Amino acid sequence: MTRHFDLVCIGGGSGGVASANRAASYGAKVALIEGGRLGGTCVNVGCVPKKIMWTAGQMAHTIEDAAAYGFSVPPHEFRWDRLKAARDAYVANLNGAYERYLRGNKVEIIRGYARFVDARTVEVEGERITADHVLVAVGGTPRIPDIPGAMLGITSDGYFELETQPDRMAIVGGGYIAVEVAGLMRALGSEVTQFLRRDHVLHDFDPMLRTNLQEHMLADGIRQVTGFHPARVERDDAGLWLIGEDRSRHGPFDCVLWAIGRKPVTAALAPEAAGLPTDDNGVIPVDRFQDTPVPGIHAVGDVTGHHELTPVAIAAGRRLADRLFGGMAGRHLDYENIATVVFSHPPIGTVGLTEPQAVARHGADVKIYETRFTPMSHGFTQRTVKTAMKLVVAGSEERVVGCHVIGPGADEMLQGFAVAVKMGATKRQFDDTVAIHPTASEEMVTMKTARDARREV
Ligand SMILES: Cc1cc2nc3c(=O)[nH]c(=O)nc-3n(C[C@H](O)[C@H](O)[C@H](O)COP(=O)(O)OP(=O)(O)OC[C@H]3O[C@@H](n4cnc5c(N)ncnc54)[C@H](O)[C@@H]3O)c2cc1C
Repeated sequence: MTRHFDLVCIGGGSGGVASANRAASYGAKVALIEGGRLGGTCVNVGCVPKKIMWTAGQMAHTIEDAAAYGFSVPPHEFRWDRLKAARDAYVANLNGAYERYLRGNKVEIIRGYARFVDARTVEVEGERITADHVLVAVGGTPRIPDIPGAMLGITSDGYFELETQPDRMAIVGGGYIAVEVAGLMRALGSEVTQFLRRDHVLHDFDPMLRTNLQEHMLADGIRQVTGFHPARVERDDAGLWLIGEDRSRHGPFDCVLWAIGRKPVTAALAPEAAGLPTDDNGVIPVDRFQDTPVPGIHAVGDVTGHHELTPVAIAAGRRLADRLFGGMAGRHLDYENIATVVFSHPPIGTVGLTEPQAVARHGADVKIYETRFTPMSHGFTQRTVKTAMKLVVAGSEERVVGCHVIGPGADEMLQGFAVAVKMGATKRQFDDTVAIHPTASEEMVTMKTARDARREV
């Protein structure tokens, strides 16, 4: 007999789990289908293990800085295998917690990979399941270039399986995953060479963040090869070699990491059987209500191709459930002013418009406030670390439309400022907020010098 549900979520990652739990809390009969590990990318091969590795890198830096604070640090070693074991155990715990939480909410967990039979029916491990609403939350997977020897390299998924620390690491890509891994591996002592298509990292971020980060990365000893297009990977007794289209030859490396972007995993889902369109990259189009062009089929998270962040997938999934089962007509996620952090060394926090975006949107009305300074914690350490901040304001009332910071603590600093930006705060209201002293974040409410953005962009 075919089982029928009010909602079937395909994918047990950030978006699917959040939506399933919220829908079940309204009394809906919900099934969640997951082919891999519960928690999806974020828990297993994304945010969570990445943040643990980043924290290890931070600790390495703290040990390095400790001498300036009077500590004599005894000889010490970093054990990759110990950290990996602790990290894997932490993630396994989370997998269990996700399962218990879903079961506690009476969500039926179905193991296996789903494919559409038609718009209301999916098949998993030979069983057919029907539903009034189907949520596609299958996420994405890392891209691997189509070049000879590419499989000698690994992706971020493989990075979290490494049993030993690569001494010599090549990282291909300039996005946030590439700079995060580059920074933490360098902090943990690996030789890191980063290969960039352009001459800068983090292409879509504010130029101030890009230049400051790149300066820190180079100062930390990360080598960067710019204007690079990989042509093939080879292996010999010395290790792996990365060869460019310009025939430049780089290596030897112990590990080549492809960090060149991600793509949705929709092909195996047979979306065409449900009449569900996808673009050339496999992205499923949705409107602001997360509705696809097929009535009753919805999509959230990375599969929709924008704002590929866990809290976005969660927020969209919960709002969808609120609308479908919680009686909240019109409820949807507002994708404006979503804050994000890059766990680079030092970290970046950013919300709102970059300077070029603000000028494109508001033209002559844009003003920039910025500052760069040595935070007190690094006033006398041997390692030089700077903090840089920028406020992008628009209009005669100087509404803050962009807030960008790089420096120690930026990761924890930005959430509160994101609330202010989301609420439409003005520069005057920032200034009227009494500073917390002595902190780096106080500079955000004491910035004085303004410049006209038009002259700079
Ligand atoms: C290295 C890395 C670091 C990251 N760091 C951060 C960070 O610091 N902060 C942040 O906000 N975001 C981060 N992200 C992004 C974040 O992980 C994703 O945006 C988020 O996981 C997307 O959630 P999702 O629900 O769309 O998909 P996913 O979490 O990818 O979940 C999709 C699930 O669907 C399953 N699935 C796929 N196809 C099927 C099928 N046919 N049937 C059944 N199940 C299926 C998969 O097994 C998977 O478990 C990071 C990503 C990576 C790769």
